[in-house]
Amino acid sequence: MEKLKVLMASSEVVPFAKTGGLADVAGSLPIALEAAGVDIRVIMPKYSSVKASGSEAIIGKNVKVYFVENEEYFGRKELYGDKFGDYPDNLDRFAFFSREALERCKRENFKPDIIHCNDWQTALIPVYLNTIYKYDPFFAKTRVLFTIHNMAYQGIFAKEEFPKIGLDWNLFTIQYFEFYGKVNLMKAGLVYSDAISTVSPTYAKEILTDEFGCGLEGVLKTRESVLSGILNGIDTDVWDPATDKKIFKQYSSKTVMDKYANKEKFQKELGLKVDGEIPMIGLISRLADQKGLDLLAKIIEDILNTKVQFVLLGTGDNKYHILFEKMAKTHPKNASINLKFDAVLAQKIYASSDIFLIPSRYEPCGLGQMISFRYGTVPVVRETGGLKDSVTEFDPKTGSGNGFTFSEYSSKAFHSAIKRALDLFRNKTVWEKLITKVMKLDYSWGASAGEYIKLYEKIS
Ligand code: ADP
Repeated sequence: MEKLKVLMASSEVVPFAKTGGLADVAGSLPIALEAAGVDIRVIMPKYSSVKASGSEAIIGKNVKVYFVENEEYFGRKELYGDKFGDYPDNLDRFAFFSREALERCKRENFKPDIIHCNDWQTALIPVYLNTIYKYDPFFAKTRVLFTIHNMAYQGIFAKEEFPKIGLDWNLFTIQYFEFYGKVNLMKAGLVYSDAISTVSPTYAKEILTDEFGCGLEGVLKTRESVLSGILNGIDTDVWDPATDKKIFKQYSSKTVMDKYANKEKFQKELGLKVDGEIPMIGLISRLADQKGLDLLAKIIEDILNTKVQFVLLGTGDNKYHILFEKMAKTHPKNASINLKFDAVLAQKIYASSDIFLIPSRYEPCGLGQMISFRYGTVPVVRETGGLKDSVTEFDPKTGSGNGFTFSEYSSKAFHSAIKRALDLFRNKTVWEKLITKVMKLDYSWGASAGEYIKLYEKIS
């Protein structure tokens, strides 16, 4: 049987460019698909920050990554915008990228059975396939799976920008692009795709509601029969404390005590008191309202006034930078605030922390909890989206569960979950059992890659 041919289109792919979880997925799912026998290629823009020469590279054993080169559009350091906000030509940039994804297939003579699109930056691909390329025999058998990584980012532009897409104005209607008088790329992409998925079963249900659908719940309801949720995995070769060269001392579920060697070295590096007995609470996140940082803001003072250490890594909204900068000044002894993007520091935080916080207002999937498990760090999460699908409350009586969870979006509920985690941390025997257990959980791509293949086969 011929191999299934898939083109994965993404605006960010690890290890070339990353602002969030989308890059992790687009860089690791293809490797799992390759291992499962799919002929998979990836396409992404070549930003100036991409450290690779030429117009293609290889990830995994032999997965080709095609770079779309355009100095004017992508010869910039950041992906979508700078400190002044989104780049004003984002519609030109990603319309170009989407056209190029199709043209590149032709130039490479790669006839995909499936184009797997991700988020609004690639939403024009299914639209172009059904309009400009509708009668192009090259794509006669090509079908599109569109994966939503976050409903809150839809690619919305002023009506006046519509001509940049290169399509007839008759598509500027509420059936396709029009969204409250503006152009909405994701909306048209959802209408034209053969199947739609999102990154966890719970989020697939949530986005059909007013609360989480971000205005597109109506469109999604009309497409409910082709909508499903597949939980993300993580690349367990990349995220592996047994081989991670960036941490101080490698360890596995058989040598969990070596986790504390990491913690003590890290405490020293950060200028915190070196003491394995002090619980270290980590948080790595984009600093955005989505992430529940307002809940943290209300209780962090109380938490820092107890015997804990708090290590934060993140960048994002200025209001959070101000908040955390203030915290760094008032609690220099037990708070380490790192307002930047730093992959190496992230690895050290995952390895050294005892507890990891993800209090998100909503979370399509979330990767931090899975990476935490892998490094024997216990997550405290809000029960939403993929967090709900992967973390369950630990019960010290039965030993069931793998973390600490809260449902109501309130600082009180969050604080109580943190306290339960801190209480358990003091019970050394049970805590060690718990961290040994979570390190053995399997959140690799294996099962989810299989589900994607089933979905590709269903629509091809
Ligand atoms: P999102 O995609 O909404 O940002 P995810 O949990 O899906 O959230 O993915 C976030 C990923 O980005 C994780 O791998 C996390 O460790 C990483 N990350 C977030 N902020 C930073 C940062 N400032 N430095 C390094 N890694 C970060």
